[in-house]
Amino acid sequence: MTQFSDLKLDPKVLKAVLEVGYTTPTPIQAEAIPHALEGRDVLGIAQTGTGKTASFTLPLITRLGRGRARARMPRSLVLAPTRELAAQVAENFDTYAKYTRLTKALLIGGVAFGEQDKLIDRGVDVLIATPGRLLDHFERGKLLLTGVEVMVVDEADRMLDMGFIPDIERIFGLTPFTRQTFFYSATMAPEIERITNTFLSNPARIEIARQATASETIAQELIELSATRRDSAAKQKRDALRAIIESEGEKIENAVIFCNRKVDVDILAKALIKHKLDAAPIHGDLDQSMRTRTLEKFRAGELRLLIASDVAARGLDVPSVSHVFNFDLPSHPEDYVHRIGRTGRAGRSGKAISFMVPADQKYLEQIEKLLQKPLPRGESPVIHTPMTIKSKSAAAEDGGASRPARARRSAGSAKAGTAADNPANAAAAPAPQDTEAASAPSIANRRSPAPRRDTGPRKQGNTRRDNRDAVVGMGDHVPDFLMREFRVA
Ligand code: AMP
Repeated sequence: MTQFSDLKLDPKVLKAVLEVGYTTPTPIQAEAIPHALEGRDVLGIAQTGTGKTASFTLPLITRLGRGRARARMPRSLVLAPTRELAAQVAENFDTYAKYTRLTKALLIGGVAFGEQDKLIDRGVDVLIATPGRLLDHFERGKLLLTGVEVMVVDEADRMLDMGFIPDIERIFGLTPFTRQTFFYSATMAPEIERITNTFLSNPARIEIARQATASETIAQELIELSATRRDSAAKQKRDALRAIIESEGEKIENAVIFCNRKVDVDILAKALIKHKLDAAPIHGDLDQSMRTRTLEKFRAGELRLLIASDVAARGLDVPSVSHVFNFDLPSHPEDYVHRIGRTGRAGRSGKAISFMVPADQKYLEQIEKLLQKPLPRGESPVIHTPMTIKSKSAAAEDGGASRPARARRSAGSAKAGTAADNPANAAAAPAPQDTEAASAPSIANRRSPAPRRDTGPRKQGNTRRDNRDAVVGMGDHVPDFLMREFRVA
């Protein structure tokens, strides 16, 4: 097997790599580094977790070993889609270039221009930037890209998602066409293919198997939830998450919990903190210094639950994340792969638990198509939290604040009271039943359910009997509003 010492890296780089404790290159490193050192363009189809950052950082440092930077003319350029990812590349550079005299500057939003300008004025070997910020500097006349010998584009597919492709094309045009290019993307969308055809010259194409399909170290679970009430669906989902966090207990050393929307990241973080869980949010609207602080705490093991949006957590490199939760199933299947790749890194085991609500059916289909296998259905959570507040208000809405939950259930419908009726129940019921129950029509059939406080799976026959008993107290009159149907979106 190839060793780092076989790779013709600069001895100073090799020393730094060995010091980190790596002796064997990952597949993308073993394949990309020799081509890169020969001066060839590299097209890496790989995602985070494969060791791709070092696969371009190590040859980059080796290549720049000779020569000096000139004022305002960086000798190399690394473009990353997000600030966090750019900062991570910068960290990698610091680690592997520690025995060299190479200099770097990190140009990211949320940081004052002044300091960055000073560094560029002095001349840097490696400029690591997000595309927008780089162009801001360029337009202020502070930067020339005509001295770029090597250009790296990292996570191009994410650049595409974020609308950066025109910026990338423009930046390519500002660099000399004689440059060497390393281009990385997790997927090859047609637009990405077009860019690589235009700007790469006879690249060595290296494709590394998808981590999600290749990695045996991530145990995946899908938990199907079905809300009893549309107006409390979000709360019920949060309760289900807390129930799982509780049931996993100490197995959760730390976790990244993904939401699809920034606003939900905030809401969920607040809710978890309110319940005395060690959680903090991270998303693009938060102040940069706060994002950095939160990430540092998470990396250092001082924060247990990181609630994140896709963009903020993109490329997040924390070697030991025990759990990933998809609080919302992502709408792009690639995001699922990226998200769960935050755990099970570098050969460690990890667990990825995803929630699904009926409206997510199409997303699930896309994810399973991409993974080429069904997601294993996980045990549903046992919700200990008595949903007292909701119960009371639901009861009040039903016109009987003190009426027992069972009575309300039975009065509502013949189906009411089955495990499928209620996320608390649905969550507790066996998964196959839930699949059915989770579909919209069954929800539409429901009448005024009441959250159940007990948890174990309930047999339908018994439930019916319970319901018959429970009719006592409701009388013959069933109010109209109890019979009204509602649909989830
Ligand atoms: P990346 O794909 O660049 O985000 O890297 C994923 C993780 O693998 C990071 O935590 C790296 O520090 C780690 N890593 C990189 N190269 C190696 C290697 N050769 N052996 C073991 N771990 C590595």
